[in-house]
Amino acid sequence: MAGLETKLLNVVGDRTAKVLAEELGLQTVGDLLRHYPRRYEVRGQLTDIEALQEGEEVTILGRVESAAIKRIPGRKGGILEVVITDGRAKLTLTFFNQAWRSKELREGREGLFSGKVGIFRNKRQLTHPDYLMIPDGNDLDAAISDFAGKYLPLYPATRKLPTWKIAQCVRLALENLNELIDPIPSSVLSNLNLPTFVDALREVHQPSDLAAADLARQRLTFDEALMMQLFLVQRKTEIKSELVKKRERKSDGILAKFDMRLPFELTSGQKRVWQEIEGDLSGAHPMYRLLQGDVGSGKTILALRAMLAVIDSGAQAALLAPTEVLAMQHHKNFQRLLGDLASAGTLGSTNEATNIALLTGSNSASERRRILGQIASGDVGMVIGTHALLSEGVEFADLGLIVVDEQHRFGVEQRDALRDKSISPPHILVMTATPIPRTIAMTVFGDLDVSILDELPLGRTPITTHVIATREKPKFLERAWERVREEVAQGRQVYVVAPRISQEDGSDFSAFGLSPKELALVQRLSGEPLDAKSAMASVEELFPRLAKAELSGLRLAALHGRLSSEEKEGVMNRFVAGEIDVLISTTVIEVGVDVANASMIVIMNADRFGVSQLHQLRGRVGRGATPGLCLLVTDVDSQSPAMARLNAVAATTDGFELSKLDLEQRREGDVLGSAQSGATSHLRLLRVIRDEALIGQAREVAEVILSEDPGLAENPTLREEVDKLRQEDRASYLEKK
Ligand code: ADP
Ligand code: MG
Repeated sequence: MAGLETKLLNVVGDRTAKVLAEELGLQTVGDLLRHYPRRYEVRGQLTDIEALQEGEEVTILGRVESAAIKRIPGRKGGILEVVITDGRAKLTLTFFNQAWRSKELREGREGLFSGKVGIFRNKRQLTHPDYLMIPDGNDLDAAISDFAGKYLPLYPATRKLPTWKIAQCVRLALENLNELIDPIPSSVLSNLNLPTFVDALREVHQPSDLAAADLARQRLTFDEALMMQLFLVQRKTEIKSELVKKRERKSDGILAKFDMRLPFELTSGQKRVWQEIEGDLSGAHPMYRLLQGDVGSGKTILALRAMLAVIDSGAQAALLAPTEVLAMQHHKNFQRLLGDLASAGTLGSTNEATNIALLTGSNSASERRRILGQIASGDVGMVIGTHALLSEGVEFADLGLIVVDEQHRFGVEQRDALRDKSISPPHILVMTATPIPRTIAMTVFGDLDVSILDELPLGRTPITTHVIATREKPKFLERAWERVREEVAQGRQVYVVAPRISQEDGSDFSAFGLSPKELALVQRLSGEPLDAKSAMASVEELFPRLAKAELSGLRLAALHGRLSSEEKEGVMNRFVAGEIDVLISTTVIEVGVDVANASMIVIMNADRFGVSQLHQLRGRVGRGATPGLCLLVTDVDSQSPAMARLNAVAATTDGFELSKLDLEQRREGDVLGSAQSGATSHLRLLRVIRDEALIGQAREVAEVILSEDPGLAENPTLREEVDKLRQEDRASYLEKK
């Protein structure tokens, strides 16, 4: 007999086990039983042959109509041509020199046929398909058939491991299965009307009918959602039960001084969120909070205030930015906002003052040593940096708060690395400008409290967005450059964004942290072939061309990730100071860059960017009282999905709406996969959008279970599963580093 942990070789024999491991990575009975069918064929209901697409890998259920052997003169052997039908359309199966197969492929028999659909002389065919003939009623072997049932499971399969072979292995595993303990308490199951674990496993693989299969699938999906929520709720409880170091807070310190200088009043949304943050900061347990707010909603000022509050209590505060450009900008911006409040120890500074350090990967060795010394001694109260902040050797005297800016790709483990930076647990505030639908927030950030900033400061004028479709209207691009000139003539500044640095490069999405896989996804979404490189704009090509022709006489500069940090800083400073009219840049400006006088952005090959990314880029303008204008330039076909996407971005500036759209267009696995490192291999069925209701239920159930049994001592099977999730999360984080 076998349990879920039993090695497959003990059940299916070592040859088959080897193939299962090599082809699908399945090692144990549990792995195999969690390899769920994609769908089911129903015996007697033949697959619609008409609907098959050329090039598609298919497994279909069909009936043999005829089989004939064609001899080729002068050659040995022959071609076996078998015609199968669904009752209407026909498909030809072709076998070379395998006449003997005609004995199996007899007229009137049904079978599963698996292969790639090709076209030969206008007829659809499969060449050398794999097949499995289904025994007819009076066949002797029907009794031992894997397809005794009415529903034939179709598994994700490979050439070496066709679906029926997998079905055979599953049948063996199910037949030999020990009694399993259901990880979910039966009271929960009956409340939700879900079947037991064993029943669900049997029904999902060998359904008695499709409704039962569907219910089984719901049960198994719920398991995944529940494990994840248990993991997150448990984590949240653990963090929330830690004690922060007791520190007295000065009420007339640097925060009070800063507030007196603030040139504007906080919006009511900002005030509400501040109450939440303030409540956390004055409590006995660490803050662990996600602050969501659309681009430009004024998150940064709240973060700064939180940092100052912590400094008032004698501790240090750190801000982690996703890019160097952004870290530099925050540094500059905070220094400007704080003025002499940021120059402690210098002549004439006030006693509330603190010091700010900037730590990035491009500090020189001696600078780095000096800064690390100041951080360790407590001489600097505020540290702004990139991921360099997370590296070994960065030790704080007394770190009280960490703010993570604009970084939605930040898994549980990265957050833990931050928490390890302090002797006593620090407060953590994660900010994201990509609004996250509720269900994602519940999964990816399910261990954090959430604050939402849902209004923009007064006096903002909405951004107007137009799509410039150069395929249909090439003249419109010329008009766009004229428009840039008009903007500059009024004393405003403009961004021009290109997807790559030079003509030789692929797209430069490095600043956004896109992995090659995600990049491929963006390109696939754009609906254009991956090799359409030559048609893609680059900073190094655009810059001299615009300078010479369309934008001649204007003050232009280029900015991209390959410049040294001094060069980048120099360019940004000159742009902020208004000494540059037009900045030609890659996505390094994407997040957070804040220049109120910039009123227009032209995004070249806009189809190359994802929806959220375009929204972020667009958020670079319309930040002051000046109306913003965003032009999305593209040469894709007007009927393409990419064009539909761009039109959607042009139609709304509501970040929540756009992030939903973005999500619907991604494969959902990618969403979880990139945001929550790890955990994904446990999520086979769960889909974050489709299963919103299930996730909500799982959250409630997890909270109830943990409130009665915080350590899961009374639910050992659940605890085991959750521990596995935890370990996997850790392992995949280590792999990524
Ligand atoms: P976010 O980080 O949410 O994208 P920022 O904090 O950078 O937004 O704010 C965008 C701009 O709005 C900044 O220039 C900031 O100084 C300004 N701002 C923030 N809060 C207010 C407010 N209450 N009233 C007016 N302007 C504000
Ligand atoms: Mg910001």
